[in-house]
Amino acid sequence: MKTVLFHDHGNANVLQYSDFPTPNPGEGEVLVKLEVAALNRNDIWTRNGWPGIKLEYPHILGCDGAGTVAELGKCVSGWKIGDRVVINSNIGCGHCPACIAGQDNRCRTWHLLGETVRGTYAQYVVVPAKNVLLIPNGFEARKAAAAALVFHTAWHSLIVRGGLRVGETMLVVGASGGVNTACIQIAKLAGATVYVVGSGPEKLELAKSLGADYLIDRSKEENWSKTIYGLTEKRGVELIVDNVGTTFPLSFRAAAKGGRILTVGNSGGPKFEIDNRFIFGRHLSIIGSSMGTQADFATVMNLIFEGKLKPVLDKDYPLEDARLAQERLEKGEQLGKITLTIS
Ligand SMILES: [Zn+2]
Repeated sequence: MKTVLFHDHGNANVLQYSDFPTPNPGEGEVLVKLEVAALNRNDIWTRNGWPGIKLEYPHILGCDGAGTVAELGKCVSGWKIGDRVVINSNIGCGHCPACIAGQDNRCRTWHLLGETVRGTYAQYVVVPAKNVLLIPNGFEARKAAAAALVFHTAWHSLIVRGGLRVGETMLVVGASGGVNTACIQIAKLAGATVYVVGSGPEKLELAKSLGADYLIDRSKEENWSKTIYGLTEKRGVELIVDNVGTTFPLSFRAAAKGGRILTVGNSGGPKFEIDNRFIFGRHLSIIGSSMGTQADFATVMNLIFEGKLKPVLDKDYPLEDARLAQERLEKGEQLGKITLTIS
């Protein structure tokens, strides 16, 4: 099969469009013929590598993908060749206490497709049969793949971990990332009032088009926590989505008493100082989460299929141009999800 793979960490130039043996599905697995893969920041981090990461080379990136079932492994039922499916990239063992409790994203031997196992920058990928979901007739594979990881992550953070309730106020720090744009849409669907801090008119315009109620341009208002305070009659907001990390000091200031700060990432860097007085003085909770459960995946993807949540799409590239696609993502030129069409 054709793939984009790499033999060592480095910049986008390590990616090679190359042949690789088509994998065979084992027991409980299916082989998916991919039509489309979507890019995530994780692809860049995995390609760059981090201390302790161990990959079996050559490695194939890609968490998100959609296509058709091409072959069934042993003991797989409920699927037939040709079924159109989207992949849940969270691979739990299925039998540990966390998996049995329906918290498969806390599995002790959890893997993320494309991170620790070979992913979707390829014509074919093997995944557990429980990790695919049927795409309804007429729904575009590209939209399904683009939605999967970011909406899954946003749903688990906002609804399951964050417990967002109707009528609450919510702030999203950052206007354009995949998870952030998903959070804006989910929060509006859930009946929240949404504040967005972003930089530049184009990104804020996108947030507005997704339903954000209040927009704050941080390139003009550096101390945006003060602006939030003013806009909320000095109450602050109840729920804050902060996947930047280094902005926590400002997020604490923008939080209402009893506020919850949700985080699924640290695009601004992993380490920063916090002022503990805000945590106890304002009764704040910091709630971390990573990816989502199988139940979350089915729930949020059905809302995608119904058109109630919509992935924002950026450029599409052919698989062989994955290097150019990653460079676009690294430069932050994209507005929405970058995809790869696989033929
Ligand atoms: Zn498990």
